[in-house]
Amino acid sequence: MPLLEVNNVVYGVGPDKKTPILAGLSLALEQGEVHALLGTNGTGKSTLANLIMGCEGYRPASGEIRLDGTLINKLPIHERACLGITMAWQEPVRFEGITTRDYLALGRHHADPAACLSLVGLSPDLYLDRMVDKCLSGGERKRIELASILALGPRLAILDEPDSGIDMLSIQDVIHVISAFKKNGSAVLLITHREEIATISDRASQVCHGKILCSGIPENVAQHYKAQNCRTCGKGECHYV
Ligand code: ADP
Ligand code: MG
Repeated sequence: MPLLEVNNVVYGVGPDKKTPILAGLSLALEQGEVHALLGTNGTGKSTLANLIMGCEGYRPASGEIRLDGTLINKLPIHERACLGITMAWQEPVRFEGITTRDYLALGRHHADPAACLSLVGLSPDLYLDRMVDKCLSGGERKRIELASILALGPRLAILDEPDSGIDMLSIQDVIHVISAFKKNGSAVLLITHREEIATISDRASQVCHGKILCSGIPENVAQHYKAQNCRTCGKGECHYV
């Protein structure tokens, strides 16, 4: 049985929720699998991440989200967190007033905070005793958030564009982080719009206009994406023609 199943999920916004963002999207992740979700901006990747995490206001209009076969569509975010789903948002959340050391020790904390910081490219000597506050750059905050997810050791980590933004993680950093998740046995949904990031996963899927276009071996999916073989929209937001 897959760890996560997303079956035919529909989600819309606007008046009467009639503007479709996800249009019958289906995806499955096995235990411990790193699955890249590849798609250009505006194709519905972050929306899917929010729906799986169960963020406030994100509930499918129809379709199913299952963890270990159990329907979790209606569970609130904290209950999904207790089941082992964790997410690193595209824009990192602000957590203020504690040191990085304490931040990394929140939750179940099996892992060594210094090792987790090193894995995201931050020196423990420089960062462990720094406060998590607005003196950190966006990139530093994002790295610390990723380190905290590594420390948690979730069953499923959803990483929304870990390489995006100012002072972003290099592909080498992402490779280190992903291999640490794999070593922990965590499954990862790795959201990206860069095909070179997708190729470090076990499996990949391409999303366009709220639907999965193709899934399979990362190299093949990355090739499909690069060749702009988009049969769904032809010429949508992603400028595939
Ligand atoms: P991605 O993460 O792939 O860039 P998103 O999931 O953030 O895409 O958004 C998909 C599309 O849905 C975008 O065109 C975005 O503008 C639109 N969208 C997302 N949320 C809302 C909302 N609450 N109201 C209106 N449009 C939205
Ligand atoms: Mg996004």
